[in-house]
Amino acid sequence: MEFATFADRAAAIEAEPADLEIVAHVTALLEEAGGEEPQTLEIVARFVQGRVFPAWESTTLDVGPNACYEAIARAAGTNVDADDVEERLAEIGEIGDVAASYDFGGQAGLGAFAGGGAAADDGGDLSVREVYETLTDLAAAEGSGSQDRKEDLLFGLFNRCSSDEARYLARLVLSEMRIGVGEGSVRDAIAEAFGVPEDGVERALQVSNDYGEVARVARDEGRDGLDAIDLSIGRPVQAMLAQAGTVTDALEEWDEAAVEWKYDGARVQLHHDPGSSDTDGDGEAAGETRVFSRNMEDVTDALPEVVEFAAERLGEPTILDGEVVAIDDEGRPLPFQEVLKRFRRKHDVARAREDVPVRPVFFDCLHADGEDLLEAPLTTRHDRLEDVLVDDPGREPEDVDGLSLLWYTDDPDEIESIDADALEAGHEGIMLKNPDSAYSPGRRGKNWRKRKPDVETLDCVVTGAEWGEGRRATFLGTFELSVRDEDDSEELRSSGSAVEPQNLETVGKVATGITDEKLEELTDLLEPHIAAEEGQEVELEPQVVFEVGYEEIQTSPTYSSGYALRFPRFVGVRSDKRPEDADTLERLERLERLRE
Ligand code: AMP
Repeated sequence: MEFATFADRAAAIEAEPADLEIVAHVTALLEEAGGEEPQTLEIVARFVQGRVFPAWESTTLDVGPNACYEAIARAAGTNVDADDVEERLAEIGEIGDVAASYDFGGQAGLGAFAGGGAAADDGGDLSVREVYETLTDLAAAEGSGSQDRKEDLLFGLFNRCSSDEARYLARLVLSEMRIGVGEGSVRDAIAEAFGVPEDGVERALQVSNDYGEVARVARDEGRDGLDAIDLSIGRPVQAMLAQAGTVTDALEEWDEAAVEWKYDGARVQLHHDPGSSDTDGDGEAAGETRVFSRNMEDVTDALPEVVEFAAERLGEPTILDGEVVAIDDEGRPLPFQEVLKRFRRKHDVARAREDVPVRPVFFDCLHADGEDLLEAPLTTRHDRLEDVLVDDPGREPEDVDGLSLLWYTDDPDEIESIDADALEAGHEGIMLKNPDSAYSPGRRGKNWRKRKPDVETLDCVVTGAEWGEGRRATFLGTFELSVRDEDDSEELRSSGSAVEPQNLETVGKVATGITDEKLEELTDLLEPHIAAEEGQEVELEPQVVFEVGYEEIQTSPTYSSGYALRFPRFVGVRSDKRPEDADTLERLERLERLRE
């Protein structure tokens, strides 16, 4: 296929606002490319999305905008330089239109010298395949002089371009194609062009992350061929993503929830093949480990700890999904920014490793020992993860390094205490997952929910408490929270009178999110205000204000306010606030209505 034909179709697609029509154009383009050699179809299926290489491949062109401006300027003639190109860019705002605004082809001799063929005023002799091959050479250029070589190769291409060709070449090179073709359009177009079902294309795309390969297999082998595309060790899949959500929703929708700590780190996908044969003759099987980031970038070299972990702990071919966490000297997690420093590190990794050690925690298993598990339920995948990571069958899962802990429960209190433990261990909170759900690459669905951080907090007066039990017998806990039932703080403040218990209405009890150390502190603070005691229950004079987070406010007959805070969580003591500054019932009512 000529690159001019591709550029024509791209221009038609760009001018088309309707999604259905876009799919029709892409279908026609794929059909046309499908009549040619396999590679052309693969290339066109990627180019139309603005990709040169498959999404899973780490190869990049590694061309800066400046090299592209230089190449355009050189192809445009002796009186144009890169500054002119930049000036036009500032005026026009988009590199494709800038490239299309020049008249290329006058530099015929130089073009031929740089690897291009004859000049063409109106394009026509440059094929899609030549563009791809030149860009592949360009990506491969490394070392000293490579930027000049890249620029020469680009110049050679621009020099053979018509206006439209130059427009789409410039955009392709700078990853700014933006003609309105999304992944869904290409999926539908492949199905349409080659008469295969959309769900078959969808699955093959999820597994392979290569629109080119999927288009070719759909054309040559149909549905059966697509179904036979498997995960492949070394070829990353897109990570499944999470939505924000609440415990209430999760428990309403599922019989029980899988609850896990949400580790504050960076996503990694580990591909490991322990190797079955001694290929290099050193007496050991040569294993292969690759580590990919959330964007499927190869970060293996930056994270030797993960490679070592794989070599020590994994005895079978596996693909695991997890998080890499930076840790301090005591093994406590460090902020997420610290991990990012490690991901970006290209040189002196050994030093970086000493400064900020990291450790992986895996929470999913996508492939184990020849078996793809994407479609298996989470329960099965997590069982396989345990099988893969537990080296000693006598060991409890919580003692297995690198394994995320998971609890199946429908008990909100248990979920609360898992959340409190996660926060106490320095992590971000919890993830709630549907135990029956498959692994959906790239999807931000409802089957994985990260618990919403508190949108708002409330300042409540502490009006009661309970003495604890066992080792907490000398501590007050389970604090009763109240809000004021009239908005008269100004009046109270000016009259100097305190809030009376009869002006307070209860809204809930908070028992979670509090460490033993904190409980001791709170007991010291509240004990002097005990007004009455009965058994373990204590009535308190309204003196102290707590800031509390919550998931939502519900109407409820349990508390005197008529409302209840769902999942209240202790945030802190508002020692700067007096009870008359606490929140009111009116605010509670307003917040509850906002939920609608
Ligand atoms: P967010 O980045 O806030 O959208 O939250 C989702 C991210 O949390 C995922 O992409 C993971 O990188 C991370 N994460 C941490 N712990 C877990 C876990 N147990 N399960 C799934 N994702 C997790």
